[in-house]
Amino acid sequence: MPGKTTLDVMLSPAARLLWRAADVVQLELGGRAVLVEGLDPATVRRLFSPRPATADASAGPLDGTDDTSRHSLTSLTEAGYLWPRTDPAVGTGADGDARLAPPQPRLAAELAALTAQHGQRAAELLNARRHCVVAIHGAGRVAAHVAAVLASAGIGRVHLVDADDVRLHQATPGGLGPADEGRRFVTAANAAVQRAAPDTNTTPLPMGERPDLVVLAVDEPVDGDRRGALHARECAHLAVRLGADHGVVGPLVIPGLTSCLQCADLHRRDRDPAWTALAVQLTVARRHGAASDVALATVIAGIAALQALAFLDGGEPAVIEGTLELQLPDWRIRRRSWPVHPDCDCSGGATAQ
Ligand SMILES: [Zn+2]
Repeated sequence: MPGKTTLDVMLSPAARLLWRAADVVQLELGGRAVLVEGLDPATVRRLFSPRPATADASAGPLDGTDDTSRHSLTSLTEAGYLWPRTDPAVGTGADGDARLAPPQPRLAAELAALTAQHGQRAAELLNARRHCVVAIHGAGRVAAHVAAVLASAGIGRVHLVDADDVRLHQATPGGLGPADEGRRFVTAANAAVQRAAPDTNTTPLPMGERPDLVVLAVDEPVDGDRRGALHARECAHLAVRLGADHGVVGPLVIPGLTSCLQCADLHRRDRDPAWTALAVQLTVARRHGAASDVALATVIAGIAALQALAFLDGGEPAVIEGTLELQLPDWRIRRRSWPVHPDCDCSGGATAQ
């Protein structure tokens, strides 16, 4: 029709189209769904075609659709259910479309999942993960597992920092195995990362270079020296702690911008004047070895990885100035807030109200 712009769209690769009736379709995208009435079958068929309208005359161009259908297609495109087609001559991925191309074949499912959340930006985000560096400090039971999950999700460089040998209680599915007992922790953890994602770089950064995120997988309170070193380097860090019947992810500290681990300690001291003395004693190893529930450790490693990825993808993780906590036998994850403490010198007040 004269005066109308070309409307050539396709179904998002993360969306599903289901027929509810002859003239009603249901589109689903992640946890969202929408019903659309009145789309003619030829228009719907065009949405599934892998080729642009100009190259697929048999399916017919969408320009011929009526105004109601055009309005529906435009709204569905704005909501992410449909994507504008790209010119295959300039694309690089499947069907010539860079939005459909994972950086590694093993990341195709990750790309599809990211597409449900981030739409056409998903491939860009996944490619950006290849340039991210995460350092895992500490030898908590979740350390190697978190490293393996992050590498499996496409983080390009993941390295571990711990000088001890593997102890049997650190074994967990997805991380270290019972056969790793007695090996150097870093060697065994790097092997776990390589099993999950063989293309991951596990070498430490050169002296003076800063990772995008440090995960502190330490089950005891973080001491002041380690905390101070992270702040001096302006290094973002995420605490992950596992107890006998509870796990805590967070806070995620962005030095100078958010509350810090010392803020959280000062809040604990306000509630319990003996906290400072208790924290020192909690750094001493338990007499009968570490206690941790492997199913709980698996959940906590997953939450930690989700929060780390949300941060690295440029989102707003729930553990900024907060913690996500699971206390057995409860099944609910609880969020606690840890705002900037007025007595802390961390300058986290930049975001305080
Ligand atoms: Zn602070």
